Amino acid sequence: MADFPSLWASLAPIGRSPGGYYRWAWSDAERACRLWFTEQAQARGLSVETDGNGNTWAWLGDAGGGNAVVTGSHFDSVPGGGGFDGPLGIVSALLALDVLKERGETPVRPVGIVAFAEEEGSRFGVACLGSRLLCGDIDPARAAALRDRDGVPLPEAAGLDPTGLGPDPKRLAGIGAFVELHIEQGRALAADPGAPVGVASAIWPHGRWRLDFTGAGDHAGTTRMADRRDPMLTFAYTVLAANKAARLRDAHATVGRVSVSPNATNAIPAAVTAWLDARAADRSTLDGLVDDVLAKVAERAARDRTAVSATVESLSPETTFDHGLRDRIAALLGGAPVLPTGAGHDAGVLAAHVPTAMLFVRNPTGVSHAPGESATDEDCAAGVAALADVLTELACR
Ligand SMILES: [Zn+2]
Repeated sequence: MADFPSLWASLAPIGRSPGGYYRWAWSDAERACRLWFTEQAQARGLSVETDGNGNTWAWLGDAGGGNAVVTGSHFDSVPGGGGFDGPLGIVSALLALDVLKERGETPVRPVGIVAFAEEEGSRFGVACLGSRLLCGDIDPARAAALRDRDGVPLPEAAGLDPTGLGPDPKRLAGIGAFVELHIEQGRALAADPGAPVGVASAIWPHGRWRLDFTGAGDHAGTTRMADRRDPMLTFAYTVLAANKAARLRDAHATVGRVSVSPNATNAIPAAVTAWLDARAADRSTLDGLVDDVLAKVAERAARDRTAVSATVESLSPETTFDHGLRDRIAALLGGAPVLPTGAGHDAGVLAAHVPTAMLFVRNPTGVSHAPGESATDEDCAAGVAALADVLTELACR
């Protein structure tokens, strides 16, 4: 039986660079992770298959047997991401099966480990793409038409038949419960030193808005300040207004991506496009935040004599995890803390279709989607033990 540090070390170098992990969906690095997963699963006697949506599944017992207990996560990363976001759930799942074997526990239900495709949406722009396709939460034709930044269509990048993309009701109906273990993306557990592992209560509603600012491109040296219609000013105000609106509501707002045209040092920009990512504990708070920002920005645009338009690119409702499963797992783990999260997950997609739960492993830095993301070997081992307890309870009793 492998221990956490040695199994982790065999995966960790794949896609690693000094600036963090680069494991785009279906890149060489992400494919190497999946090959690693296939080999590890087969070495444990599991049968491995990839579905029509590019998700890889490893099965202990009859994959078609029904009422399966499925765990897993994803291998893909954001550009320059941390090593734990995603892979920790899959490595922990493999080790949890080792623990079951060591304990002499025999599952009476099929147990599956899944590596979902394109969870981050970093390559094709749609987060949780593999799980959304599985669950029928995205139009397969829309997915088939997605292209990455180099113009490569999704089916080509993934090596998938476009006609095979889409809902997989039979597979979904065979899942009795889904449990995703994930690195915590925050410091709630780190603030409580007695708790290496927590249980998720909910995922905050969240969305992405594209903001298009237009003004008048002109000469930086000759255009009088009073004559300018500078969309960069309206944009800059927006960043500050979003930050303030979020702070006032204990919510989160981020402008992390911006594109400027023509992007020249000595030219007043003609246009700026920015993306607002906003998240809050409930939908009315989120709506209030975004309405507030957009109203303030419109007011500011009038003063700057610029124009602004906002387009919703995605909006995910609040996910409340199955209360029975959540409480059962929290009790099983000796009263583990129950906490909400602002981050989206495949478990959030699955939760609308099957009883679903999430375990979080303490992250001392709280950092995620960046190289500072971390977890100690001891806490990761505690996560494996917790997942093994959950699989024993759900699949072996
Ligand atoms: Zn993740």
